[in-house]
Amino acid sequence: MIYFDNASSTKPSKEVLEAYLNAAENNYENPNSIHKLGMKNFNEINRIREKILKLLGLDSRYEVIFTSGATESNNLGIIGYYNKNKSRGNHIITTKVEHESVLDVFKFLESQGALVTYLDVNKDGEIDIEQFKKVINKNTILVSIMPVNNELGFALNIDEISKVVRTFPKCSLHLDCAQTVGKYKFDYSLGDMLTISGHKINGLKGCGALIKLKKINLNPLFYGGGQENGLRSGTLDYPAIVALHEALKITMNSFNENYKNIEVLRGYLVENLKNNDEISLNIFKNQTPYILNMDLLNKKASVVVEALSNEGIMVSSVSACNSKKEAPSHVLLALGKSDEEARNAIRLSFNKNNTLEETKIFIQKFNMILENIKGRKL
Ligand code: PMP
Repeated sequence: MIYFDNASSTKPSKEVLEAYLNAAENNYENPNSIHKLGMKNFNEINRIREKILKLLGLDSRYEVIFTSGATESNNLGIIGYYNKNKSRGNHIITTKVEHESVLDVFKFLESQGALVTYLDVNKDGEIDIEQFKKVINKNTILVSIMPVNNELGFALNIDEISKVVRTFPKCSLHLDCAQTVGKYKFDYSLGDMLTISGHKINGLKGCGALIKLKKINLNPLFYGGGQENGLRSGTLDYPAIVALHEALKITMNSFNENYKNIEVLRGYLVENLKNNDEISLNIFKNQTPYILNMDLLNKKASVVVEALSNEGIMVSSVSACNSKKEAPSHVLLALGKSDEEARNAIRLSFNKNNTLEETKIFIQKFNMILENIKGRKL
């Protein structure tokens, strides 16, 4: 099996599984119990918080709130922030190319009375900084933008955005880094709140974090035992937290080596696909090599994804979250593609586990499939 759907989810590393199993077997005591085993787990979680900050290059102005993943982190970072801070201003900004777990949150807040601006991105996947300067104002309390896009892999100009946000002291910058960690060299201190997720970095599903400046106040999404300074009630999942740290440690420590290898794989694919008149590659000025997206010019994406799957090659059409809906990609639409183009793109996404040999097999099978699927797509 060739797995090129790593932006959807990755295979957990052996070390991660071992760390999880070890902690689940041996450290199952509730970290909030005040006996010594509970306290041991609690203290270790606090050490892990420090290590996570360090791995991301963040200092002690930041703190880590453990969550169930990027969806929850985005909800907490945006809804929790808005509800706590809305008396200071009612305007919030995001882009048209965010993941649903940000976009749908903004739509929800809009329905609750928030004034929302959805920024455009240009053909390079960048925000027009002049447009941004025009819309941000004294009433703006939050900007939420992903540094790396999950469908197309382009990197947004967060450094420029961050500079502008910093001139508005009431306004905070939230960055959904679910697809940034491990895939792109990035200065995480550009953000005031950051979302990360374990299963995108060879960790486990069901564990992520919202990392935020301590000075930022949030309302919780749900109420209960008051864990995580009252921001995320629920028994701390010690084994999952250990696993998240292990995954992040391996990812950050092998970043350069993996990045170089993936550039080689992607380079081979681009070289062998760029003259194929059945497809058009979606390539950007700044982007991660871990994601390669292409428009199918004469074929239906779902048919090609299925044919590849039958050959043992797993890829996505649009993003996995959307692919079952058969809706056009809102990201491609935002980039000015037609409805038909936005329905017929496929995404290959890579991981350190992938090999050059796999890309060679992909090219061979892909060409065969394009040849075999005769006729127009619709
Ligand atoms: N944000 C982005 C950019 C993503 O790619 C994803 C996963 N597709 C999510 C959020 C949601 O992540 P999780 O599965 O951890 O909730």
